[in-house]
Amino acid sequence: MAGRIPSTFIDELLARTDIVDVIDARVPLIKKGREFQACCPFHHEKTPSFTVSQVKQFYHCFGCGAHGTAIGFLMEYENMPFPEAVEDLAAKAGTEVPRDEDENDKPRENLAPLFSLMEQVSDWYKQQLKSHPQKESAIAYLKQRGLSGEIAARYGLGFAPEGWSHLHEAIGEDNNTTQQLTRTGMLIEKENGGHYDRFRNRIIFPIHDTRGRVIGFGGRVLGDDKPKYLNSPESPLFHKGQELYGLYQARKNNRNLTQALVVEGYMDVVALAQFGIRYSVATLGTATTPDHLNQLFRSISRIVFCFDGDRAGRDAAVKAMDTAIPLLRDGREVLFMFLPDGEDPDSLVRTEGTQQFEQRISEAIPLSQFFFAQLEQQADIHSLDGRAKLVSLARPKLSRLPAGMFREMMFKQLSNLVDLEEETISGHLLEPDIPKPATRTKQASSNQRGQSPSPVRTALSALLHNPHLIEQITELEPLKQIDGPGIPLLIEVIETLQQHPNLTPAALLERWRGRESEGVLHKVAQWNPPIPEEGIEHEFQGAIKQLLALSRDQLTESLYSRPLNELSAEERTKLQQLLSAQ
Ligand SMILES: [Zn+2]
Repeated sequence: MAGRIPSTFIDELLARTDIVDVIDARVPLIKKGREFQACCPFHHEKTPSFTVSQVKQFYHCFGCGAHGTAIGFLMEYENMPFPEAVEDLAAKAGTEVPRDEDENDKPRENLAPLFSLMEQVSDWYKQQLKSHPQKESAIAYLKQRGLSGEIAARYGLGFAPEGWSHLHEAIGEDNNTTQQLTRTGMLIEKENGGHYDRFRNRIIFPIHDTRGRVIGFGGRVLGDDKPKYLNSPESPLFHKGQELYGLYQARKNNRNLTQALVVEGYMDVVALAQFGIRYSVATLGTATTPDHLNQLFRSISRIVFCFDGDRAGRDAAVKAMDTAIPLLRDGREVLFMFLPDGEDPDSLVRTEGTQQFEQRISEAIPLSQFFFAQLEQQADIHSLDGRAKLVSLARPKLSRLPAGMFREMMFKQLSNLVDLEEETISGHLLEPDIPKPATRTKQASSNQRGQSPSPVRTALSALLHNPHLIEQITELEPLKQIDGPGIPLLIEVIETLQQHPNLTPAALLERWRGRESEGVLHKVAQWNPPIPEEGIEHEFQGAIKQLLALSRDQLTESLYSRPLNELSAEERTKLQQLLSAQ
């Protein structure tokens, strides 16, 4: 892995980049006053509510709440990981991305020899399935599973014969080859020196990357050895948290895949393919990771997870749902299907046939439905307490959904379920750390709209949109003394701007990427106070004044509540000053 990208570089990069160019190249923008507009690429709409501010270097959608910087836009729109988005902008700006650590000094290893070695190994396993004297046990197993020669060839199945060194002898026992075979996990090093083959007496399933190169193997045992399924270990080529078995073949079979079925093992993938269901993939001995899902969502919009119907299957589904939630931007769909007790996809497709099985896939439960069904099992919606519990359970999960129509819809559904106004719910969900008026019931809220926001929020929002306001802050100490939600974040923003007064709003936001308070900061940045541009300075000063008053009140309160004889001379003078000033 390359080292961390220094935040000063991000500041510079964002200062040299114009978000308008970045977005306009992908979503044509129209100038409207000081800002630029388009129909939102993240939700479906007919009149533009997607706005790009050249001054602030933000984009913001008034329809779905999508929001971010040029880096954030590339990550969302192009589905790029953070470093890739930075590389892309840097290339356009004609600069090189520096890394904090020295790892970038090392030239990147050329992996080509390892790839070609794996190809050779894969060919050898295939050859053994055809010609090894003991191939019969392997062939009998595949036949018993109903696999045709055509499917075996399509997935490149092979055979690792019984014995400790067949592969090693066949591929090469010279030092270099031995070392490469060990690095790729094909050989295991003995404690007293020497090596032995990892895969023995197993059906071999080569694992391909999306470009079709062999990066590792899975092996299904033929005898009684343990474990039943064995995978290549992590290696320079193979990262199980990123790879999906069968994806290469699924894409090869159909370039325009619309859905993928995620199953548990390679045998399921191959068995389903035998029955004409050629869009299933399997994770490799690991739970689904965000990398897996991103990989799929790059070209497929609908992902159906297939789990056992038992407790363990349900738990795995909840885990997969949690992983999927932050990735569910509009247009993406995640569903769950649960198998009858004791069945796996392999057994079920064989007893039921293709049509029945595909019927089950088409009847899979949408994530939204599964989400609320799960919650309702944990809280009784018929009681007030239960409904409150439900909101508090839903809150951390829904707040991780990307902005968009899907999130809106989930809020709506939650609000219907607990009989609270949608606005109350979404406000509640999206502002975990900033105080808000307490949740109100439908009847009570109608005449209480337009309540003014907290001074912390106003100050944060004003600073985020207008970093130059930092000059107006002359007294920081009293603010630091305040005990209240949002204060530590406000102080950090102030201190960051005092150290780096020239940060653009976008660069300021980027400094919080990946941190716990990132979400809160984004929410505040999105939140458009009904303040005209000219009034911002005044609003900001008002908020700071309010906070200074709060600080004084808290100090008075704390001094006043202590016995007078415990106060130092200094504290007494202070208390006197405070009291006489009131
Ligand atoms: Zn939108």
